[in-house]
Amino acid sequence: MLQALSRPHDHETLPTAIIRAMVAELPTAFCAALKDSLGERFDRSAVGREAYARDLSTLGHLGLADALDGASPPPFAQPPQGIARVTSVEEVQAVTRLCREHSVPLIPFGAGSGVCGGILAIRGGITLDLKGLADLEIDHRSLLITVGPGYNLQLLEDRLQREGLTLGHYPSSITCSTIGGAVAARGAGQLSTRYGKVEDMVVTLDVVLSCGTRVSTGPKVPRAATGPDWAQLFTGSEGVLGTITSCTLRVHRLPALRLFRSYSFPTLELALESARLALQRGVRPAALRLYDPLDTLLVARSKDAPPLAPTEKPVSGAWPLSLLSLRGLKEALGRALPDLKEHAERALLSKPEWINSLTATLPGVGCLMILTFEGEPSLARAEEALFDEVAKTQSGVAQGPESAERWWRNRISVSFKQSGVYAMGGFVDTMEVATSWSRLMELHDSVRAALSPHALVMAHFSHAYAEGCSIYFTFAALRDDPAATRERYEACWREGLAAAVAAGACVSHHHGIGLLKGEALRAAQGDLHSLVFQPIKSALDPSNLLNPGKLGLP
Ligand SMILES: Cc1cc2nc3c(=O)[nH]c(=O)nc-3n(C[C@H](O)[C@H](O)[C@H](O)COP(=O)(O)OP(=O)(O)OC[C@H]3O[C@@H](n4cnc5c(N)ncnc54)[C@H](O)[C@@H]3O)c2cc1C
Repeated sequence: MLQALSRPHDHETLPTAIIRAMVAELPTAFCAALKDSLGERFDRSAVGREAYARDLSTLGHLGLADALDGASPPPFAQPPQGIARVTSVEEVQAVTRLCREHSVPLIPFGAGSGVCGGILAIRGGITLDLKGLADLEIDHRSLLITVGPGYNLQLLEDRLQREGLTLGHYPSSITCSTIGGAVAARGAGQLSTRYGKVEDMVVTLDVVLSCGTRVSTGPKVPRAATGPDWAQLFTGSEGVLGTITSCTLRVHRLPALRLFRSYSFPTLELALESARLALQRGVRPAALRLYDPLDTLLVARSKDAPPLAPTEKPVSGAWPLSLLSLRGLKEALGRALPDLKEHAERALLSKPEWINSLTATLPGVGCLMILTFEGEPSLARAEEALFDEVAKTQSGVAQGPESAERWWRNRISVSFKQSGVYAMGGFVDTMEVATSWSRLMELHDSVRAALSPHALVMAHFSHAYAEGCSIYFTFAALRDDPAATRERYEACWREGLAAAVAAGACVSHHHGIGLLKGEALRAAQGDLHSLVFQPIKSALDPSNLLNPGKLGLP
């Protein structure tokens, strides 16, 4: 099948250039068999293949932006040789067996909203579109659902809510991703502090292995002592160990009450301390988001944002600018000199190091934390009261519900505002890492320092747990010529992830690995990757046909 491998530019390493395979034509007998069983649902058209060539990763966007600018650097995209749109588990099994028989790679596909190049067909082969597998069974009494992998997450949540239930999985990509993709990439929703990450929801999975056999990872029981938890082996396996064809998941009763709260804190350290103390005393907000000073400024800058009250204990030497006056000043300037806005934004992106060091010392700004509490009214109110008590011990000042309500209304739109940065001639990406409370500030400071020479850096803390928290860095810079832009982009990931690992963090909290972070994962895991993960992959997929090259695998 695989005739030759070529790197477009020998000096480049992943992730900026992907290895582009010169693949043989699909075997005639293979195509005939697929056409026979799937008919029109086996698609080899050029348009169809191009539509499945890239996911929503920044490198994919950069490749498109370069192409529109007339440049032709190596794209972070690779079309499959065909798409199989299956509608039953039996079809998944039949396609998998055919792929094995003819040595054709097989790439499971949910909705393609991944941001790490997880669905790129880097060795050619067939993309297995699973959206047609969207059955749903609900066990109201046990609060369990069994759902096909292709169910769109927003439609699933809507359906469950009509039944008085919620999965509690609200990623920003909820409208454009599937439950199978979430399980395969070990995703997290915005209410993960209460409902957990997707791995906390998984009870059991059905998986079609590379030989075409379907296995179930266990019965639908709450807990078991029957050896390793096999469902967790496949949760986060990004299609390299098998295709998930059914997921049994924990669900919850729809909360009777949702409370919105926000606080301002004079410093990041005090805000984090109040989150840690409250969580360790058993408070479980559904959402807890803490913005660093620059992110706080930008959140507060939005047109309909309520002004923040000053914190009770301003840090000595604080700037005289309150959030309100700074925002007012910017708005007034924007109204008086609208053309200046774009220039100012470009200028911000063109001097990242300078702006980063300036914003690292924004003592007068403080930090905004927004929270939601939900569930049984008496419990939610008790949790809210306990949080308030803890926050006050750390100089937190309650700001009312507006900031949190506004975030809830706009919670999915912010991720989709990236196109403005591209239109302005820039790029933007996010790095989500997590560590223990003991090393959280070290993680924040060291990743910020690593990214600062290359891009404007913002950060917020979300997905908080009793043991630690995730930090979501957003970094943006201007696009230069394509080669220089990719060098800058690659430096962000290389140096940012190295700093994260040195601070005891994982290389991804919820976006997964795909192609983008494969090398970083392999380096971070060392012997675990070579002595445990790689042999498991070889045993389950001896011909390396299932989504080859992802998760740092050869
Ligand atoms: C704007 C935006 C916001 C985002 N916000 C979040 C967020 O808040 N939280 C979060 O966790 N992620 C987020 N993401 C990332 C992405 O949406 C998630 O990783 C999502 O779970 C991917 O689902 P999908 O159905 O699109 O999967 P795909 O992109 O199609 O696939 C992802 C990976 O899983 C594999 N795969 C898919 N289905 C199966 C299956 N049935 N069996 C085996 N392997 C399979 C694929 O081969 C691929 O490796 C965001 C992405 C964007 C673009």
